[in-house]
Amino acid sequence: MNNNIKLWTCPNCGCNYEEPTFRCINCGFDKSYKVITVLGSTKFRKEINEWAWEKTKKGYLVLTAPFAKEEIPELENYRVLLEGIHYQKIRICDIVFVFNKDLYIGESTNQEIQYAIELEKEIKYLSDEK
Ligand SMILES: [Zn+2]
Repeated sequence: MNNNIKLWTCPNCGCNYEEPTFRCINCGFDKSYKVITVLGSTKFRKEINEWAWEKTKKGYLVLTAPFAKEEIPELENYRVLLEGIHYQKIRICDIVFVFNKDLYIGESTNQEIQYAIELEKEIKYLSDEK
């Protein structure tokens, strides 16, 4: 008996299995995590990372900009690439979350929101959370 084997439990039928699958092998339940893409200023990177971790613990797949802990010096050199990647994150997500701390929404975030609206994405705002 191997005690290191982690069992995955289906939230629908409760059956257990060893490998992570997105569909329950017993009842077919889709266990895919909802994808949230976070839009917001890099000046809120610390708060966004904390928020993302809280959502991850609740079972969401959270996509944020690639600013882990501090400002990345060469960020500006990758502007076009990063924008392309970020817009793809908006296309593939289920929910767009606007991190409008202090009701601040920058210009690029505004453009991203417009894009999300065009794609008819579900959009939520930090200011609406309690
Ligand atoms: Zn199941």
